[in-house]
Amino acid sequence: MSDCLFCRILDGSVPSKKVYEDETIYAFEDIAPKAPTHVLLIPKKHVAQLADMSPEDEPLVGALAARAAAIARERGLSDYRLVANNGEGAGQSVFHFHFHLLGGRPFRWPPG
Ligand code: AMP
Repeated sequence: MSDCLFCRILDGSVPSKKVYEDETIYAFEDIAPKAPTHVLLIPKKHVAQLADMSPEDEPLVGALAARAAAIARERGLSDYRLVANNGEGAGQSVFHFHFHLLGGRPFRWPPG
């Protein structure tokens, strides 16, 4: 989608700092990190939000979560947070599904 920021990152028209890429997944550094590690993991396929994932997308969601764990492991993180904001009221600002991988500092619960 040409009006989607993360699709533009995927096609290279918006620069990003790549962390990982394969046929279905792209991971990159968040531009405004909220923790020492703040990586965004997105599907290459445009899906606006978690609620729009179809049953056939379940392996893709699993692959994104597994890749987040692998990135955390590579960075020596044992405690980290994996977040998907679904909808504006939950804090979603970019409507191309993404997980936030956050680590490297303590986190409080519940989140604000
Ligand atoms: P959310 O608010 O859950 O939709 O998360 C969107 C995230 O995208 C925020 O953490 C932003 O800092 C991040 N972001 C926005 N623009 C860029 C960009 N050009 N490159 C990397 N991260 C971005």
